[in-house]
Amino acid sequence: ERLVSGEAVFEDTESEYSLRPQTLKQYIGQEKVKHNLEIFIEAAKLREETLDHVLLYGPPGLGKTTLANIIAVEMGVHIRTTSGPAIERPGDLAAVLTALEPGDVLFIDEIHRLPRTVEEVLYPAMEDFCLDIVIGKGPSARSVRLDLPPFTLVGATTRAGALSAPLRDRFGVLSRLEYYDVNQLSHIVERTADVFTIEIEASAAHEIGRRSRGTPRIANRLLRRVRDFAQVRGNGIITFEITQTALELLQVDKLGLDHIDHKLLLGIIDKFRGGPVGLETVAATIGEEAHTIEDVYEPYLLQIGFLQRTPRGRIATSLAYEHFQREAPKQ
Ligand code: ADP
Repeated sequence: ERLVSGEAVFEDTESEYSLRPQTLKQYIGQEKVKHNLEIFIEAAKLREETLDHVLLYGPPGLGKTTLANIIAVEMGVHIRTTSGPAIERPGDLAAVLTALEPGDVLFIDEIHRLPRTVEEVLYPAMEDFCLDIVIGKGPSARSVRLDLPPFTLVGATTRAGALSAPLRDRFGVLSRLEYYDVNQLSHIVERTADVFTIEIEASAAHEIGRRSRGTPRIANRLLRRVRDFAQVRGNGIITFEITQTALELLQVDKLGLDHIDHKLLLGIIDKFRGGPVGLETVAATIGEEAHTIEDVYEPYLLQIGFLQRTPRGRIATSLAYEHFQREAPKQ
């Protein structure tokens, strides 16, 4: 398991429940998304209506689940949580929908993984708050329409592009979450330290923020690891020195790159003079699957401008050369 992955592992889920901010005010960053939601929530409350269906998309660990919960709190309603892969048949979804109370938020994580047959049940539910069910079989089968309580669907996905157009079109609010900057991340680290009641130097929080790849989940995870060091090696206070030592031992570099990122970039730099080199060749060189490289390893490297995807293949940029203190080949 990768320390710098945005995906949740068991260790995260244990503590995340208590770390989640409860209100929009406590939710750090994502100003545009927050501002829009604030207005939509206020307007829905004034009209005494349910909030429009909301689709939250963006990389894992940026706060989609947290925001879904906040929406329910701000609307003053309950939230029911499920996920795309958990709903296998139309009947599963019907059971969830009919159990809702008026105004509830239904949160479906990984909504792009809903089977198509289930999606079709969702369309009339989202549009008209009703459920079309077929009773009986063969020639005597007939369709009955059931009314549902009005509800707000909040869908979350890491892959908005994988959502079918008819489903995407039924969301009134589409919000893309962005990577966080270092200041926002250090703010999140300080808040988490507060919840854990541990003392942390501002420079230490900043250092953790800097190495968290724009992702709150990673920031909180690194903080937990550094806290262990501070308790065993120090006097419990998280200092800048302890943070640096701990993260070095954990092989998370100044920009949050780990040994896999190093292997990938240095592979392109050393073996292919910086590229361009085809994805399949990179995959074979470092012994990883091409789709894993594309979906898991590359996004952050692209985001920080260390890697470029071109029609002729992958290129390590001059920023990557600088990071490894190597001289880039002449153009
Ligand atoms: P996602 O659903 O996008 O994978 P989560 O909502 O589960 O991400 O967030 C992961 C962790 O990061 C949670 O522990 C949450 O407390 C924290 N977190 C995410 N966004 C924020 C934020 N804006 N402010 C404070 N903490 C955050």
